[in-house]
Amino acid sequence: MSHHGSRNDECWCKSGKKYKKCHWEQDEKLAELARKGIEIPPRRLIRRPEQIEGVRKASRLTAQILDMVQERIHVGVTTEEIDQWVYDMTLANGGYPADLNYEGFPKSCCTSINQVICHGIPDQTKLKAGDIINVDITCELNGYYGDASRMFVMEGATEEARNLVAVTKECLDLGIQQVKPFNRIGDIAFAVEQHALKHGYSVVREFGGHGICDKMHDEPFVHHYGPRDRGMVLVPGMIITIEPMVNAGDFHLKILPDGWTVVTRDGSLSAQWEHTILVTEDGYEVLTVTE
Ligand SMILES: [Zn+2]
Repeated sequence: MSHHGSRNDECWCKSGKKYKKCHWEQDEKLAELARKGIEIPPRRLIRRPEQIEGVRKASRLTAQILDMVQERIHVGVTTEEIDQWVYDMTLANGGYPADLNYEGFPKSCCTSINQVICHGIPDQTKLKAGDIINVDITCELNGYYGDASRMFVMEGATEEARNLVAVTKECLDLGIQQVKPFNRIGDIAFAVEQHALKHGYSVVREFGGHGICDKMHDEPFVHHYGPRDRGMVLVPGMIITIEPMVNAGDFHLKILPDGWTVVTRDGSLSAQWEHTILVTEDGYEVLTVTE
């Protein structure tokens, strides 16, 4: 009754190895999980080495651009200037800013200040003393995508704002530490939310991370709240983003009339950090780093 083909045939992953010496054991384990009703990845989400290398290069460029922003950003610059920096450096390196014209988004990155949760549109707004801002960048390079965001804290920010930014970074790091074969998206979500709750914060529910490779947004959806036993099982070769959005107040949000800008409903501050992560044989590799 084998629909996998023979164990002596070449593996479906095109490694050139025999199936029994390659993905057979993992497929047996996944089939057993599927029988228990657990969501398993379709084979196309288990990325081949050349795909992983493509995402690694796009992710490295993304991190380099964020490093550039980090060096230049200061009180008085407009978010449109930041956008121009991102556009110029992406093109200078042979890439394309994937946000630009994505479903009609008019700019090359998202700039989300203070109570803006995500998808803020760069404009003439000048950064002020005390602001916190998230800059979110997705680079396309040779058909592959890398996606990351960081927070930048302007001089004069309150202790409260600085604490939110620091705890949100800890939430991301704790989420990343849950990435290993046969953990589930829910393990990431649980680690993220428990840490936020411990500090009196809440985690945004309507938006989350995603699979990424030769599409900017792919399966699975990576939620950041709720119990452990939810979501797709992680297996080596999957690539996802983890990008918790943490609010100082409650998790409710609203979308402004521009159709993009997402803000906290209660006007509280919000922070977000993001990396693109590869699931490896024994854990994870953060791809949106410069080396
Ligand atoms: Zn294989």
